[in-house]
This record gives sequence, structure tokens and C-alpha cells, in this order.
Amino acid sequence: MIVDRQGRRFRNLRVSLTAACNYACSYCVPNGKRLVAAQDELPADTLARGVAYLIEAAGIERLRITGGEPLISPRLDAFLAAVAQLALQDITLTTNGQLLSRKLPQLQAAGIRRLNVSLDTLDPLAFRRIARGGDLATVLAGMQQARALGMQIKVNMVPMRGQNLDQVLPLLDYCLEQGFELRFIELMRMGHLARDHNAFVQQFVGLDSLLELIGQAHAYQQVDAPLDATALRYQIPGRGHFGVIANESVPFCRTCSRLRLSSTGWLHGCLSSNNRHYVGDLLAKPRHEALPALQRLLVKALADKQELAFSGGVTVMKVIGG
Ligand code: SAM
Repeated sequence: MIVDRQGRRFRNLRVSLTAACNYACSYCVPNGKRLVAAQDELPADTLARGVAYLIEAAGIERLRITGGEPLISPRLDAFLAAVAQLALQDITLTTNGQLLSRKLPQLQAAGIRRLNVSLDTLDPLAFRRIARGGDLATVLAGMQQARALGMQIKVNMVPMRGQNLDQVLPLLDYCLEQGFELRFIELMRMGHLARDHNAFVQQFVGLDSLLELIGQAHAYQQVDAPLDATALRYQIPGRGHFGVIANESVPFCRTCSRLRLSSTGWLHGCLSSNNRHYVGDLLAKPRHEALPALQRLLVKALADKQELAFSGGVTVMKVIGG
């Protein structure tokens, strides 16, 4: 097992199935272009072999499928069928929910029981302004159908000043009523926001401001979360829970166990590092040839992790998957 000086190792793998997306969220996609065709993406069986190799080479236990938007990938069904056979403790998926209703049977068949659905507002106009694609009612209907099938849903919201701060309480109330767990994600300095300091600072809402806002409407208390969890977790007694992924305010680098594999075959050991390691060619090789070479690259990817604090990076989130 590859472990660093801080005792960190890779346990959680995020595979970006495609860099293409049917949204162009203002904080993620700089030029506002939706559905830009992704180039040189690996076939589903090669990516799934990558997951199998990384289970062995890095000790991966849990897989999250992300993107771009994973549900628009023509390779989704084949990838799901392949990874469902692997020795993973858990497979989850992050989606914008636009195609959720349609894809629920395949997700269920692959054993997926937990979903993260990204939703930044309940206001249809703000939704179109931020996501620059998609339809709010379709997302809400998809989440309801998934819940009716027994799936657990976490809703990801990025609160931003001047964009959707007025939606923090309505979205929290909606999630509490529906039995979804809302997770606020502090805006990250990724992609164009890593270069545009002013745009980042103007929109950023930190943990303290967020909790103060929530405290105006709800009594809450912090509860324990697993050691390598990214989210701080809070309980509103009698109503439910919410979480905050506070990359900036309370960095979780010291316990980070995440490894990312892009659809084009690059390994990323850290969101904050601009380093990446090409493994696309290795994934086409037989196991006995691939694993030793993969392990050498994993040592480098683990060394890319920040010691203490998230500092942002130029990689666009829709390429790396969040
Ligand atoms: N298309 C899927 C979705 O919408 O969930 C998966 C990919 S998306 C890149 C994954 C997550 O990253 C979303 O919850 C999105 O809100 C978040 N994200 C993207 N850019 C971000 C940024 N600059 N700061 C914080 N979160 C970001």
C-alpha cells in the first residue's frame, strides 16, 4: 500500500466519465459553452480496467462516477456494467439530475443506492442564469423518482454572493422536507476562478457566514463525521441534517484520501496541484505489466497532495469531476 508521511493513502476514486456537460455552470465553465464534444476519451472497458487496476495498485475501496455530466456519456451503461462486477464497497454518482429519470434503471442495476445531485437554486430564472442549460422541474422530478426507488440523495449547492445566497434557506427547507441531505460546497478557486481573484472573492461565501445565515432560521448542532469525510455535518434536531464542504475555511487536506481519473486517462492526486500523470497507455496493458508502472505513478500522485490547505488549481472542474 502506498502511504505518505502524513499517513494518507488513496481510498476513494473519482472517475470523470466524460468532460462534456449539458450545463455550463458559471463557476465551472468559463466560456458558457455547453455540450462541447470531449476529445480522446478512453473506451468504457479501458476506464473500468483502470478502476480494477487502481483497486489493486492503490487500495481503492469506493468509487464515485462524475464528469462533466456522467449521465450524458454514451459509455455510461458499459462502464456501469463493468464496475458493478468489481470488489468495491460502494459506487456512487454525482449528476446534475437532468437525465436522472431516464437513467435510474441502469443506476439501480449497477447497485448504486446513493446519489449526489447538484442544484444551486429553486428559482427557475436563477437556475438558467447559473447552470446555463437544463430545466429545474426535470431535476426535481428526477430526484423524487430516485427517492421513491429508495435511493439516498445528497444535494450539492455552491452558495455564491450575488448569485444564489437568497436560496440557502429555501433550498435547505426543501431538502429537509424531502428527506434529502443538503451539502453546501464553498466556492473553489478552480479553472478560471483560480486566475480571476476578484470574481472569486466577490462571490465566495465562507463557513461562518453560511452558518450565521442558517442560524437565523434553525437551531443546529455539529455532529461527528467519518475521519476522511470532506463535509462537516450538522443536525437540525427533529428536521434532519446538512453538511458543509469548507475547502477554504476548514481544509481537509490532512486526511484527504481522494484520487481522480479523467476520461482521457490522467491521474490527479490533488485538486490543488497542477500536476497530472498519464495512465491511458498503461490501462491498455495486461495487469502484470500495468501494476508496477501504475504504482510508481501513484507515489508521485500522492506526493502532489497539499500538506495543509486547499489552494485552488487551474484544472477546470468539469474535466476533473469535482
Ligand atoms: N455534472 C455533475 C454535477 O453537476 O454534479 C458532475 C460534475 S460537477 C463538476 C461536480 C460538482 O462540482 C458539482 O456539484 C459542482 O457544483 C461542483 N463545482 C464545480 N465547479 C466548482 C467550483 N469552482 N467550486 C465549487 N464547486 C464546484
